[in-house]
Amino acid sequence: MATRDGDALERAEKLLARLPGLGPRSARRVLLHLLKHRERVLAPLLAALRDVEAALVACPQCNNLDIEVPCRICTDPRRDPTLLCVVADVADLWALDRARLFPGRYHVLGGLLSALDGVGPDQLDVAGLLARLEGVAEVVLAMNATLEGQTTAFHVAERLRATGVRVSQLAHGVPVGGELDHLDDGTLAQALRLRRPV
Ligand code: ZN
Repeated sequence: MATRDGDALERAEKLLARLPGLGPRSARRVLLHLLKHRERVLAPLLAALRDVEAALVACPQCNNLDIEVPCRICTDPRRDPTLLCVVADVADLWALDRARLFPGRYHVLGGLLSALDGVGPDQLDVAGLLARLEGVAEVVLAMNATLEGQTTAFHVAERLRATGVRVSQLAHGVPVGGELDHLDDGTLAQALRLRRPV
């Protein structure tokens, strides 16, 4: 019993530590606070998170997860409609968007090509991307600097070539093997600023 509880605590702490703005130390502080105030803080927070999870829907335009359809990024009139940033997962979208690093809108592919995991082109929403290029001047490919990320970026760039839209890719700043989700805002901002044509 003690071991299992210990594992649950450890798991919660690790998950909290992965939240934006939290490191291992602050995650421990947050967890302790939640445990100390179970009735007043932890229970209502869990209920709110469950409600969010139940209300969450995939945006039919960009595949982002939100509680509104289309998502609030797609309907935000302050965003530049000529810029489209392609990411693998919702986590990457949120990482790029949490500091408003990208002024345009997004398209979530739903994964990365991977022979190992059996993910082929048909499993990625490239068709949805190709269908929403009207009025778009530049597509920014923001993939992880991993083999899968770069293979996927290459594949998407090839599919975009015939459309004539300008395609660029994150450049310096994303370390080899780096996952966008784990980069700090400064590194992400630099990678976007220094994007290069494909
Ligand atoms: Zn959307």
